[in-house]
Amino acid sequence: MRRIAIIGGGFTGTAVAIRLCDSVRTQLSITIIEPREELGGGLAYCGNDPDHRVNGTHELLVLFPDDIGHFARWYEAAGAAARDPEARAESGVRYVRRSDVRRYMNETLQETLDANAYGSSVHHVRDRATGARRVNHAVQIELASGCTIEPDLTILAFGGQRPSPPGTVTAEAQNHGGYVGDPFEAEAVSEISPDNAVLLVGTGLTAADVVATLSRQGHRGSITAISRRGLLPQPQGEVPDVAELMQRLARPVPRFIERHGEGLTLRAAVRALRRDMAAAVAEGRDLKAPFDEVRDAAGWLWPSFTDVEKRRFLRHLKPWYDVNRYRMVPQTGAIVAAMQASGQLDFRVARLAGLEARGTCLEALLVGRDGTVTREAFETVINCTGPKTMSDDPFIGALSDLGLARPDSMGLGLEVDGTGRVLDAAGHAQDAIWAFGLLTRGRFGDMTAIPQIAFRLHRSLPALGEALTGTQCPSSREVI
Ligand SMILES: Cc1cc2nc3c(=O)[nH]c(=O)nc-3n(C[C@H](O)[C@H](O)[C@H](O)COP(=O)(O)OP(=O)(O)OC[C@H]3O[C@@H](n4cnc5c(N)ncnc54)[C@H](O)[C@@H]3O)c2cc1C
Repeated sequence: MRRIAIIGGGFTGTAVAIRLCDSVRTQLSITIIEPREELGGGLAYCGNDPDHRVNGTHELLVLFPDDIGHFARWYEAAGAAARDPEARAESGVRYVRRSDVRRYMNETLQETLDANAYGSSVHHVRDRATGARRVNHAVQIELASGCTIEPDLTILAFGGQRPSPPGTVTAEAQNHGGYVGDPFEAEAVSEISPDNAVLLVGTGLTAADVVATLSRQGHRGSITAISRRGLLPQPQGEVPDVAELMQRLARPVPRFIERHGEGLTLRAAVRALRRDMAAAVAEGRDLKAPFDEVRDAAGWLWPSFTDVEKRRFLRHLKPWYDVNRYRMVPQTGAIVAAMQASGQLDFRVARLAGLEARGTCLEALLVGRDGTVTREAFETVINCTGPKTMSDDPFIGALSDLGLARPDSMGLGLEVDGTGRVLDAAGHAQDAIWAFGLLTRGRFGDMTAIPQIAFRLHRSLPALGEALTGTQCPSSREVI
């Protein structure tokens, strides 16, 4: 029996457990270390807000790239479709509740275990990995509770971390009753008094989710949302064909690279995208298609950029990339638009230069694009800057100190090889430590959403199976 520890039981960690039990022909004893009560939720799907929806259509919820209709079948059979008629947008496609993704992952895990012919098991340990030691040749994982685990193989599926406060927020303001540092904590948002003047720091999808929640709570006070560039998430465009997406991801060379060549500099890649977009406009096509082709090519483009180019992208282009990449579902878009039209919600281009506690209020120092400085009082200030990366996690730090991992040059995650094996300090890929999901962004560029995470995992299964059993697992069935 092979013992596997998966650290992090969000979508990625749970998907790894399901796919391993489903495809590896030997008995596995899998321990998922995850502090949350339920598996399969993580930061994205742990909540129960009925207005928080998956931002792609339900066809994009691909856990098995070789069976892309799996989620849709579960959704009907489990009665989730009947419970949520509002999931259907005017266009006829469905944008499901994020809580349904968590249910799907749990039920699929259970079904997979029930059907498993090798007697593999999955054990959820509600704890946090905080340290690592080397014991003989194995890695011993230290947990916050003081317990330890010594697996044969460790899989890191940490995902994103709770948001950190913007640097300009004083410690006193952070401790003020009106400051909500983590909008993913449902209780903190539900306790906001309906007449409060609210400031949202950030105008991305997190802010849109908060607006949807406040609207449902009957919020009457003003809501001001600020960001440096004032970029708002784009509405969802044409409905993607998921079979085509999987085939595009499975291409040996992405279309964008085929057309414009390998080893592009950042400048050359941006110019090539502009040309593709101009051609799409001329032909009356949706601009999303050329953008999606760049996203598909991220795993080729990102490693070929120099560190200076990567930094330039993260500083100047990422906000633009994000608003095109992470689009707003029509249901949330309608709530946001109605609040804007009534004058209750105001999006502004401004930077938060300071936040101080002043009695029952928080005073924000806002600097507009033209440099105009205003001081404004809000009863509630919500940090909507989104999840932060994982590179400062103590467990990652412990692995790095042991020479068993090294952060990528941008601090997005860890260096891995093309299948997800974590590189040690000397740059050697290790068979006993793997990473999937957000932690691998430094290698694959864009590794945030479900289709990309599931596809990458699918691609890595034969190698992962081989590391576990010495023989390739038969799961390398082609996609779709
Ligand atoms: C609010 C939000 C909405 C999103 N919506 C969508 C969407 O609509 N569609 C889409 O495709 N993608 C969406 N995403 C992207 C999301 O990143 C992926 O879909 C996916 O959920 C990532 O899962 P994960 O397991 O890698 O990360 P996470 O969901 O972040 O889960 C990681 C888990 O690791 C655990 N963990 C962290 N550190 C430790 C430790 N030291 N020890 C033990 N456990 C630890 C955490 O508790 C957490 O549960 C969204 C993300 C967010 C934050």
